[in-house]
Amino acid sequence: MTDRPRHAPLTAFRVEGQDLLIAGRPLTALAAEIGQTPFYAYDRAVIDARVALLRATLPARIALHYAIKANPLPALVAHMAGRVDGLDVASAGELAVALASGMSPRAISFAGPAKRQPELEAAVEAGVLLNVESFTEAERLAAISQRSGRAARVAVRVNPDFELKSSGMKMGGGPRPFGVDAEEVPRLLARIGELGLAFEGFHLFAGSQNLRATAIVEAQQASYALALRLAHSASAPVRSLNLGGGFGVPYFPGDTPLALGAIGENLAALAERAARELPEAQLVIELGRYLVAEAGVYVCRVIDRKVSRGQVFLTCDGGLHHHLAASGNFGQLIRKNYPVAIGNRMNEATEIASVVGPLCTPLDLLADRMELPVAHPGDLVVIFQSGAYGLSASPRAFLGHPDAIERLL
Ligand SMILES: *Cc1c(COP(=O)(O)O)cnc(C)c1O
Repeated sequence: MTDRPRHAPLTAFRVEGQDLLIAGRPLTALAAEIGQTPFYAYDRAVIDARVALLRATLPARIALHYAIKANPLPALVAHMAGRVDGLDVASAGELAVALASGMSPRAISFAGPAKRQPELEAAVEAGVLLNVESFTEAERLAAISQRSGRAARVAVRVNPDFELKSSGMKMGGGPRPFGVDAEEVPRLLARIGELGLAFEGFHLFAGSQNLRATAIVEAQQASYALALRLAHSASAPVRSLNLGGGFGVPYFPGDTPLALGAIGENLAALAERAARELPEAQLVIELGRYLVAEAGVYVCRVIDRKVSRGQVFLTCDGGLHHHLAASGNFGQLIRKNYPVAIGNRMNEATEIASVVGPLCTPLDLLADRMELPVAHPGDLVVIFQSGAYGLSASPRAFLGHPDAIERLL
């Protein structure tokens, strides 16, 4: 019993009586106010605390960017725009959200492996930094620059010759659709010089959802060393060096929070080196889930309570169509449970129950045989750590159920 892995303690939300408090409001009152389930609620105070923690732990010279892919809700992006130093986007749709957020276009960067012509045009027009992912893209940008009279601001996205170890999702090392292989980058840099594009630096992103600080430190050191080596082939000084992110959050039993201190110390050392070796370079860290995941909950309502051959199933109005990640179908190799609670029965006697959604597929599973308070129709199921890769990363049209709504509180 004691050696069964448990979820890391959740500290973002307090409990009052039997109710979970979200942004200081009892969940039952909040659900009544919102007027429908399912919904996502994001607590801006929790986001702000996370930004403050990063500001206190990372050196001041590191720019902190938000990768809005993690949660592109316009109100949340606008909130973030006032708190971070830049926004990273990966489509024209995200670019529009970033530009509307009030963030300066100079502090917006655009990465992505298949940017279409209108996307490239919109990015050049807006004056954001384009992370170039191929030779073809560099040629297209040069043509757009020539036609528009605006030199595209470019950084080279490098597919490094190493990967981020113990990463939930590897995005560098080996053959990848992302970026340009490190060994090809000198040739691309020469071409960028010939084309007259405004070279500004490098972008490296080795992987995502990592909970091991030592692995992140190692990847940052290797990324810095690689960028320093490549800088010798560039037509202009490096002004922006984006070292990626990959900071993970604890989702599953046995996961422990990332030790941020070691990462801060390493970045301080790298920033000092950069001041000497790449004096014009601004070092950038780009984070998605680490900034927002813990600030969000997904809430759905129990429709029925069924017992099948001794196993309790709580069937709900929410499911994988709103929250693919919690169902285990968004990049998990082995399905594990997110932290789940019955948000209006926080301290009540428990049983083992499974939480399932309304879709006619066994994949629609939000909690598999978890210890939960005994729940009944009308109760509110809460899935924590849901502020990132939630609604926007889910197959919302699947089976035609109503959409979830999202509230920034
Ligand atoms: C997805 C992505 C991110 C954000 O990843 P998180 O795991 O949410 O921090 C950052 N940068 C790039 C290039 C990405 O593709």
